[in-house]
Amino acid sequence: MSVIHRLPDLLVNQIAAGEVVERPASVLKEVLENAVDAGSRAIEVQLEQGGVRRIRVADDGCGIDRDDLALALERHATSKIATLDDLERVATMGFRGEALAAIAAVARTTITSRAAGASHAWRIDGSDRSLAPAALNNGTVVDVADLYFNTPARRKFLKSEGTEFAHCDEMFRRVALARPDLALQLSHNARVIHRLPPGTPLARVGALMGDDFVTHAREVEAESGALRLTGLASLPAYSRASRDAQYFFVNGRFVRDKLLTHAVRQAYADILHGARHPAYVLFLSIDPAGVDVNVHPAKIEVRFRDARAVHQFVFHALTRALAESGAAAAGTPAP
Ligand code: ADP
Ligand code: MG
Repeated sequence: MSVIHRLPDLLVNQIAAGEVVERPASVLKEVLENAVDAGSRAIEVQLEQGGVRRIRVADDGCGIDRDDLALALERHATSKIATLDDLERVATMGFRGEALAAIAAVARTTITSRAAGASHAWRIDGSDRSLAPAALNNGTVVDVADLYFNTPARRKFLKSEGTEFAHCDEMFRRVALARPDLALQLSHNARVIHRLPPGTPLARVGALMGDDFVTHAREVEAESGALRLTGLASLPAYSRASRDAQYFFVNGRFVRDKLLTHAVRQAYADILHGARHPAYVLFLSIDPAGVDVNVHPAKIEVRFRDARAVHQFVFHALTRALAESGAAAAGTPAP
């Protein structure tokens, strides 16, 4: 007797959502990154009740064609890669084509979008994939409401509104630090939390990390072959009791990587003692072919082809920046 059967699409997507949609902040990450990939100049995020009740992201990017709206909600459907070659040098934040399908399987999701050149916008309802004409000047609005309304087992793992909001805020900060060229706004329960005009990387870091950090940090700027490291790293005077102010980006993507963390810790080994932690915002750029970002669905881990070279480069670049005398640091008095 045959006992194996194919699972229905909705259930497949709900299972996949376990990996992609851990909490409201992971929805925000995916939807924000889609807005960034769409070439937006301005993105506005509205959250309600820590993002559990609602996450709404409006952008002014390229929009989605009427005939693509249903596909955008399909699993493994993407406009970002087509071949293995594309995957190996991917420059967009997304490429797996699974986020919207997973999100729509566990929350009430609608997408309203107006593709460039279209006479008006269209809205698709994620629950039945129905399409209707809609009003929107440009870009896309993704509305994700009532997260886990149909998966109570997952809903139980949600934390308090304050905690879920804090995770969303952190996710927003990562995108905002990576893209100072974009106008970004975040509000929570109708209160504006961040309103960030487009500007220089330094201005953006100051707005999000505080001027105190900028004053007590060294500017990092190093290059070797295809590797480039820029950003700000705190002087020992600004060290912190926790690791809450450590941001490392690889090709614009926030990552948490043992190798990079180790290189940074080593660079601080002689100047920072005890249980103190440095604060930093560092951007590594590297040939996309030299790093694999397809390690985990959330893409927070990466794998370097030449890990040793990356480690040494980051260690030396930071060591040098931290050792340089006062002049290089904005506003830091010489010792
Ligand atoms: P991925 O980002 O990996 O391609 P997603 O499920 O996140 O997969 O999105 C599916 C597709 O929907 C994208 O490839 C893109 O073409 C389209 N899309 C999603 N969000 C937007 C947006 N804000 N603006 C324009 N296109 C979008
Ligand atoms: Mg995506």
